[in-house]
Amino acid sequence: MSEFEFSVPVLIAGAGACGAAAALAASDAGLDALVVERDDRPGGSTGMSQGLFCAAGTTSQKENGVNDDAEVFFADIMEKSRGQADPVIARTLAEESAPTFEWLRNVHALPWQLDTSFRASYGNSRPRVHGWPGHGGLDMIQLLHRRMSDAGVDVLMETRLVDIFDDGHGRVRGAALQRADGQVERIGCDALILACGGFGANRAMTDRYMPETRALRYNGHEGSEGDAIRLGEGLGAALGDMGSYQGYAMLTDPQGISVPPPVLIDGGIIVNRHGDRFTDESEDIAGMVHPLSSQPGSGGWVIYDADIESACGGIPELAQLIALNAHKTAERLDDLAGAIGADPARLTASVDHAREAAARGARDSFGRDWAGGHILRAPFRALKVIGAIYHTQGGLQIDRHARVLRRDGRPFPNLFAGGGSARSVSGPSSWGYLPAMGLTTAVVLGRIAGRSAASLLTS
Ligand SMILES: Cc1cc2nc3c(=O)[nH]c(=O)nc-3n(C[C@H](O)[C@H](O)[C@H](O)COP(=O)(O)OP(=O)(O)OC[C@H]3O[C@@H](n4cnc5c(N)ncnc54)[C@H](O)[C@@H]3O)c2cc1C
Repeated sequence: MSEFEFSVPVLIAGAGACGAAAALAASDAGLDALVVERDDRPGGSTGMSQGLFCAAGTTSQKENGVNDDAEVFFADIMEKSRGQADPVIARTLAEESAPTFEWLRNVHALPWQLDTSFRASYGNSRPRVHGWPGHGGLDMIQLLHRRMSDAGVDVLMETRLVDIFDDGHGRVRGAALQRADGQVERIGCDALILACGGFGANRAMTDRYMPETRALRYNGHEGSEGDAIRLGEGLGAALGDMGSYQGYAMLTDPQGISVPPPVLIDGGIIVNRHGDRFTDESEDIAGMVHPLSSQPGSGGWVIYDADIESACGGIPELAQLIALNAHKTAERLDDLAGAIGADPARLTASVDHAREAAARGARDSFGRDWAGGHILRAPFRALKVIGAIYHTQGGLQIDRHARVLRRDGRPFPNLFAGGGSARSVSGPSSWGYLPAMGLTTAVVLGRIAGRSAASLLTS
């Protein structure tokens, strides 16, 4: 009798964007893939996200007159990560982002296009953030699951990968899967793709690898417990950039909804509880969590105006915040200060300082460049925000085929990883994250992993 209850050609653990892209790529190549997902419904971090990802050199960029390509994207990744991103992974993502975008759009009818409201910012030197206008991550993951269903991919919900069996030389032979009733099944596979997300929900791991985040709230998916990373490490896999993560300084309190970046890109500012500005809000979308968290009360307010609200009001998160009437509003800055409990003179000085720099089209004393910038004007708005960690960026070391690498640098022949489970390209800490890289690594590396598994099994 076989030691496995049944066998599949490709087993994919995790049904977020990475697992779905891997399954679609394997299925396109004619392989049967089985996807297992620990939750009882599609979601993951992907479902919590804004559904935006980077791609360079797409038809949608060209239609919008944007000149971009893999070389520029690669250079942006290396510059933002201060040269510390893995150049192999960075180049792979840069080169494969546009083909992945076109594949998802043309082969799998995903309605994504360049997000023209997300201008070049925060290290992306060209507008290259793509999404589904008016829709967020939940729509994205539901659509990806529909496409897996259309392709005949089997997805087993409430089924968690809990162990991996190899042949003693690194070749994966099968896995242990725990079902909702606690029963554990052993199934065989010819290739295994790890798409279980990162480890933000695993407090022991975050304390170990990124102790400076101890006091920060975690605002990511609870399934990101680092299963893939722990199991891969147990097999002898190398890990990379384990101290790397995306923080975010604009999680609304108490709504728990992210203020979308275009609110700042279009001219919003952040002040602390007293009304003082404290940072260049255009510098670092992820690392800004630290200056915010060191302010009195560890929080602040995003200040913007009705012009910005109407420009960004179609973005689902801001639309939700408007529907919830989450913002304070006032015609005069001293009334706004009263509404948010700030000092009127300090809030007025902060806004005036930004307005004066915007009027000159010059840098302000924080270093923010206001060339072509919007001059804030009444009526004003304020949203209360705190900082949080959203997702981790370190993980299993992979090569350009998304193969997991051992600690001696050799690849495991039939073990692949992508998305939050794999090392990303944000460097070692919190300051190297380019906006929308999380989903970029999920869909691009997921597709590569599915394709690589297929070429291994069909060669
Ligand atoms: C609030 C928020 C907003 C974000 N916005 C953006 C954005 O707009 N653009 C962007 O690029 N990035 C964004 N991110 C990051 C992005 O969501 C993630 O980087 C991306 O979704 C990772 O995809 P994934 O498939 O690797 O992981 P996930 O989408 O988390 O999928 C992993 C799946 O694996 C399952 N799983 C875990 N362990 C196991 C196991 N042992 N067995 C079986 N299943 C398992 C999980 O339940 C989960 O469903 C955001 C993150 C957050 C939290």
